Amino acid sequence: MAPQGLSTINLTSLPKRAEGKVRNLYDVDENTLLFVTTDRISAYDVVMNNAVPYKGAILTQITKHWFSVLTERVPGLKTHFITTDVPTSLTPEEAAEIKDRSMVVRKLEVVQIEAIVRGYVTGSAFKEYQKSQTVHGIKLPAGLRECDAIPDGPIYTPSTKAPLGQHDENISPQQAKEYLIKQYPGGKGEKIADRIAELAVQIFKAGQEYAAERGIILADTKFEFALDPETGDIILADECLTPDSSRYWPKDKYEPGRDQESFDKQFLRNYLTENGLKGKPNVTVPEDILAATSERYQDVFERLVGKKLQDVIKA
Ligand code: ATP
Ligand code: MG
Repeated sequence: MAPQGLSTINLTSLPKRAEGKVRNLYDVDENTLLFVTTDRISAYDVVMNNAVPYKGAILTQITKHWFSVLTERVPGLKTHFITTDVPTSLTPEEAAEIKDRSMVVRKLEVVQIEAIVRGYVTGSAFKEYQKSQTVHGIKLPAGLRECDAIPDGPIYTPSTKAPLGQHDENISPQQAKEYLIKQYPGGKGEKIADRIAELAVQIFKAGQEYAAERGIILADTKFEFALDPETGDIILADECLTPDSSRYWPKDKYEPGRDQESFDKQFLRNYLTENGLKGKPNVTVPEDILAATSERYQDVFERLVGKKLQDVIKA
């Protein structure tokens, strides 16, 4: 039988701290969390009933890989990553279930801003550009086509971080700063805002360079940052440069003036639109579409990591 994706995690040995659209978080001890990624998939903001085989492992292993590449390429960068070894307090069954799809991370206070960086005008940014020639309030030159590169290089375009079920809202870097000044008074907020803006673009550029060496355009992404309680440093947290948090386009098919085929979800999106299911709740996706989607995720993985998935997650 074909491998099945995992939608729910059955783990009771550790206290569950939170459950998001894709991940479950558990307390390991006072300072660390277990960050578990399911195989759930969403398209057009709706989570499908069934899941994509290997997706959770792929997202976890891509994140781990990027943390290692980026700490080498971005001077002074710190991440929340500790290990992909599973905590010893789990039962053997639990350990087997979360193997490859989990990592232990530092438990930190996440800054409540989505640190989006965009290298290209696409999606909601292109819609705003068409209306007002701005992206998150930032004025751009006239005449850009859909999916054109932003002429002076990637820009920091934050959004609010809405609670589950609500939509994030695009804001300007200045609005993000004002929000953080309110959250962290006494001059701290401004420093946090400036450091995140600087670091996000720096990491993104390093990511773009690395992806380009592998025939991939990194068009945009969303980072989350956290605070180091001891030093006040800004730490890169959450998932990192995965196909869920980023737009990746195959370089050889890139053509501005239209929407680009994405590496991962195109099969699923086509299936949903062709069958009148776009944005509808309670969709069970046919096995062959899930399998094709899984192959696309594996393809991005192999291009980025340079290894076969099965060689990374075996034994
Ligand atoms: P989406 O990613 O679709 O916006 P989500 O972020 O609510 O949804 P998940 O990605 O499923 O949900 O869950 C990850 C959660 O863990 C996020 O709320 C994120 O801010 C939080 N998080 C990430 N890193 C850490 C950390 N080191 N310490 C504490 N919380 C963290
Ligand atoms: Mg998330």
